[in-house]
Amino acid sequence: MTTGDRVELLGVTPERARVELRDSLREWDQPEYRVEQILSWVWGRRAVSFSDMTNLPVELRDRLEMAFCLSSATRSFEARSTDGTIKHLWRLEDGEQVESVLIPADDRVTLCLSSQAGCALGCRFCATGDLGFTRQLRTAEIVEQYRDADRVSVEAFGRAIANVVYMGMGEPFANLEPVLESLTVLNAGFEFGARRITVSTVGLVPGIRALAGRPEPFRLAVSLHSADPELRRELMPVERRYPLDELLAAVRDYQARKARRVSFEYVMIDGVNDSSELARLLVKRLKGISSYVNLIPYNPIPGKPWGPSHPERIDDFRSILESGGIPAAVRTPRGRDIAAACGQLRLERELSEALP
Ligand code: SAH
Ligand code: SF4
Repeated sequence: MTTGDRVELLGVTPERARVELRDSLREWDQPEYRVEQILSWVWGRRAVSFSDMTNLPVELRDRLEMAFCLSSATRSFEARSTDGTIKHLWRLEDGEQVESVLIPADDRVTLCLSSQAGCALGCRFCATGDLGFTRQLRTAEIVEQYRDADRVSVEAFGRAIANVVYMGMGEPFANLEPVLESLTVLNAGFEFGARRITVSTVGLVPGIRALAGRPEPFRLAVSLHSADPELRRELMPVERRYPLDELLAAVRDYQARKARRVSFEYVMIDGVNDSSELARLLVKRLKGISSYVNLIPYNPIPGKPWGPSHPERIDDFRSILESGGIPAAVRTPRGRDIAAACGQLRLERELSEALP
């Protein structure tokens, strides 16, 4: 919640932000209406510093600067892809770096943000998994990616971010409290619609249950990648802790409470998890769940032997799902030229920095 002893305004719930501001303003003999004035700068106008708040007395701005904090990360790198995708690296106070990606499509822009620096879950096909886990992100470090990327989105595309997906570096439900809090700040503070926010999980059951318990209609995506437990275990060590049956039971419970479609992510790796048999097994496993499957051609990573499935294979897989009553779409990879898959940009930059 704090950097040094300052309160991070993007790192606390709106309720808490109001209490903290009210207390300080009272102490400084300032009128209470300033609370909403300040917060409309923070959430409405995406102010990055108190000096931006030109309708406040200078002395108050200085005091706020000493007691509260609005920014802790700096943008350390930006890459723009020929397909419009914009990728950012954010340098955190301790030098850690995380990435976020802005993806324009048709008439809307999606932000993919990070929830951890690195990831401990070690999925075999993932660049972030290769980096290992460094540390959790604080709530404010998650929310800042949105606030700052939204400014870029308006500048670059002439429109604000329309969708937020927690699909960058890290496993959101392995950093549960800050992630749940960041959802509150985005939704109740920045007034970003809950239906436009998707949390993607590798399948941590307690997190799915926690999201199911929230009153707001945040969306859930589950990274499945195989409906065969044995193959899934090989690809994703998390399968040992939360086996497929238990995971799908949690998804069913989520759906019973939320009555909304759940998306499943399925990375298509050539010759590994893309057979017709596995597509049929997936249909069987998802029976009774109102689902939507995103088929993502594998984005190759330096040092891994795998490649993306052939387009005909993906088509076949998709038509088996569709005829089994499961809607599915192929997600064309974006920003390939700037290493836009999760964890890739940081990995590539670290590799190139390591070279003489
Ligand atoms: N930890 C969460 C969210 C971040 S990963 C999760 O695993 O769901 C976001 C998505 O990118 C996941 O579905 C993940 O499996 C996928 N992904 C990881 N590496 C990839 C790669 N090299 N190519 C394509 N998709 C990849
Ligand atoms: Fe972590 Fe998700 Fe990558 Fe797996 S796919 S290592 S859970 S970031």
